[in-house]
Amino acid sequence: MSAMQLETLRRIVQEVDAAASLHEALEVMVEQVAEAMGSEVCSVYLLDERNQRYVLMASKGLNIESVGVVSLATGEGLVGLVGQREEIVNLEDAASHPRFRYLPETGEELYKSFLGVPIMYRRKVMGVMVVQNRERRAYTEAAESFLVTLCAQLSGAIAHAHAVGQVDVFRKPSLAKSSKTFQGVPGAGGVAIGRAVVFYPPADLDAVPDRQADDITEELELVKQAIIAVRQDIRELDAKMQESLMAEERALFSVYLRMLDDNALPAEINALIRGGNWAQGAVRKVIESHTAHFAQMEDEYLRERVSDIRDLGRRILARLQTADDQHREFNEDSILIGEEITTAALVEMPLNHIAAIVTTEGAANSHMVIVARALGIPTVVGVTELPVTALDDAEMIVDAHQGRIFVHPIRRLRQRYKEIQKEEQQAAKDLKSYENRETITPDGHPVTLYVNTGLMIDVVRGVQRGAQGVGLYRSEIPFMLRERFPGEEEQRIIYRQQLSHFANKPVVMRTLDIGADKDLPYFSIKEENSALGWRGIRFTLDHPEIFSSQIRAMLKASIGLNNLHILLPMVTSVTEVEEALYLLYRSLAEVQEEEQVKIAVPKVGVMIEVPSILLQMRDLAELVDFFSVGSNDLTQYLLAVDRNNPRVAGLYSSYHPAVLRALNFLVREAHHLNKPISICGEMAGEPTTAILMMAMGFNVLSMSSSNILRIRKTLSHVPLADAKSLLHEVLKMDSAPVIKSWLEHYLIKQGLGDMVKSSLALPTG
Ligand code: PEP
Ligand code: MG
Repeated sequence: MSAMQLETLRRIVQEVDAAASLHEALEVMVEQVAEAMGSEVCSVYLLDERNQRYVLMASKGLNIESVGVVSLATGEGLVGLVGQREEIVNLEDAASHPRFRYLPETGEELYKSFLGVPIMYRRKVMGVMVVQNRERRAYTEAAESFLVTLCAQLSGAIAHAHAVGQVDVFRKPSLAKSSKTFQGVPGAGGVAIGRAVVFYPPADLDAVPDRQADDITEELELVKQAIIAVRQDIRELDAKMQESLMAEERALFSVYLRMLDDNALPAEINALIRGGNWAQGAVRKVIESHTAHFAQMEDEYLRERVSDIRDLGRRILARLQTADDQHREFNEDSILIGEEITTAALVEMPLNHIAAIVTTEGAANSHMVIVARALGIPTVVGVTELPVTALDDAEMIVDAHQGRIFVHPIRRLRQRYKEIQKEEQQAAKDLKSYENRETITPDGHPVTLYVNTGLMIDVVRGVQRGAQGVGLYRSEIPFMLRERFPGEEEQRIIYRQQLSHFANKPVVMRTLDIGADKDLPYFSIKEENSALGWRGIRFTLDHPEIFSSQIRAMLKASIGLNNLHILLPMVTSVTEVEEALYLLYRSLAEVQEEEQVKIAVPKVGVMIEVPSILLQMRDLAELVDFFSVGSNDLTQYLLAVDRNNPRVAGLYSSYHPAVLRALNFLVREAHHLNKPISICGEMAGEPTTAILMMAMGFNVLSMSSSNILRIRKTLSHVPLADAKSLLHEVLKMDSAPVIKSWLEHYLIKQGLGDMVKSSLALPTG
C-alpha cells in the first residue's frame, strides 16, 4: 500500500471512530471509500442474522431511499456470493456472472465492475462492502487490500454496535431512530431542515372530569402557577402583536388580564378547590358557570364575552395539563407538525421560528396553506401516514416542492438538502433584481400583477415587490386573529392600513368569506358537507349586521383615498348580488350622512368560484363592475374534488382541461360584455399556469406576495406570442398531466427550469 493510501486509510478510520453512531460511521465510510477509490458506488450490506438476509445499510451512489429497505437472501446475488465464500469477489463485468442479480429499487444503473469484500469479525461474516464502477475496470490488488483493511476496522465497530443493540434497524423500524420517508401534498414550496414540534389542539375544557383533590395545598399552588404563566403568555402575545395590531385591537388582552386578577376568576377557582375539587375540575366549573350566565345576557357585546371566557379557561387548563408544555419550545428551525392546523392557530405561533409546517390533514389550497405561502413557510399537507405523536423533537427534512418528509434523515441526505437550501437562497437573491419593475413580455406586452393580502406582511412585501394593486384582500384573516368579531371601528383601522399602503392603486377588498376550512376560533361552523354549506356570501347575507358593519368600515376607511373595490365571495345567484348591493348602497347612504362627506362609490365585483356563474355572466354584468376568478374554489366545484381532502388531492388539478377551458371561456365572455376580469386563485401565482392566464387575456393576475417575483421573471422571458400558441395547443389536449408536462417542458426549454418545481435536482444516488 502506498504512503498516500495509508494516509487516506488513517483519515477514514479516524472519521469513522469519531462518528456518533454506527449509521453515521457507515455513511462516512461509504462516502470516503467511493471518493478515495474513484468509484461511482460504495455500499455496505450488513447481515441480519435472524432473517438471514444482507440489508443495504449505507450507500454512496445507490438510491438513498433503498437504504434500510433493500435486502438480499444470504445465498442471493454477488453480495451473497462474497458472504458464502468469505472471500473477495473482483469482477470486470459483473452482469455476465451467473450470480449477478439486478435490484431496480436501488436505482442501480448498469455498473460493469464489482469489488466485494466480506466484513469479518472473529471468523464470522458480519456483512459485505461493495465498490462498483460504471466502466469496465480491473480493481488492483492495492485496491483490494485497501478495502480489506478498512473492513477489518469496520467489523469491530459493527460488533460493538451489535453488542449494545444498535443494529436493531433490521427489525424494522423503531421509528425512534431509523430514517423513514413520508409522502404528502406539496403546499407552500421550499425546503427546511429542523426538529419537529408537535402541535396539540387546545385543551378541551368540556372533557375535564371532576375529581377529589388529593392535596388541596398542592392544587392551589398548581392553579397559582398556571395563572402566573397565562398572564405572562398574554403579555407576550400582546407584545408580539404590537407590530401587527393597533392598540385598540389589542384591548382584549387587558380585558383578559383583568379577568385573571387575583380577585376575579382565580378567587372563584380557589374557593372550589378548597371545597375539595381538583384544580382542573375547578377551572371547568368556574368557566361553565360564567359562560352560562353570559350566554343569557341580552346585550350582544356581553354575550360575545362567552368566547373570551372560554378561551381563557382553555389557556389555564392547557397550563395545568401540561407541565410538559415546556418541551414545546420553539427553536430557530422548528418544524410544526400536527394533524390539522388552522389558520387561526398558525398565526398565533412564533412565526419567526417556524421553518416548515407538516400536517396529516388538508390539501394544497386549504386556507392555512395559502397563509403559510404568504408567510414563505414551506408546507406539506395530507401526509396521512405521518405518526405525529411519535415524532416530537425528531430531526426532519421537509421538501415542500415534492411533498416529501424525511424523518431521521441520513447524513448524506441532510448534506444534499443543505446544498439545495443554499441554492434556493441564491435563487431568491437573484430574484431580487425583479423587484419594482414592470412586467413586460419580451415582445413588449405589459402584464398587470396584483398582490393577495390578509396579513400586514403581505402588504409590505407586495409594495416592496412592485405589486400594482391588491387583487384580493382576504378580510377573514384579521377576523381570525381575534377572539371575537371585530367592531366597526376596529375594522375601519385595519382596512385603512391596507388602503393607505396602496394609495392611488386599486385595492379589492373581499367581504367576509368564512365557512368550510375558514373557521373563526369564536364562531365555529360545523357542517357535514361544509364546502357546499354556509359559507361566503351565504353566511353574510344571513347576518346583515355583520355584513353591513364590514361594508361601513370599508367605506369609512376609504374616505379621501377612493381606491376601494368590493368583491363578493361564493356568489351562486343573481339575487345574492342584488341583496348585497342593496345593503351596500344603504350603508353608503348612512355613512355619508353620518360623516357628512361624499364617499366615492366603490366598484363592485363578483368572484367566480361556483360553476353556476359560467352560465350567468350576462345577468351579472348588468349588476357589477368587474369579475375575479377564484380558481381555488372554482376548480374544487368544477371537478367535485374537495380542496382540503388529501385522499382526492391527486384529482384536484389546475391543469384539468375543464378548468382551463372554463377559464378561457370566462375571459372571452367577460370581455365580450365589456367587463374586466382578473384571477386571484393560486393558478395566477404558478409559472406554468400564469403563462396561460396571460395568454387568455386576464386583465390582472393577483397572487401571494411570495410568488410575484417568480411570475415577473417568468413572464419577462415568455413572449405573448409563445404563450398564445401554448394556450392554443393545451386547449386541445385532454389530459391534465400531459398539459402540465407540456408547459413545464416549455419553461425548461426557455431556460426557466428553476421555475418548475419538479425539476429541482433531487438526491437519488
Ligand atoms: C379562490 O377560491 O380561488 C380564492 C381566491 O379564494 P380563497 O382561496 O380565499 O377561497
Ligand atoms: Mg374561494
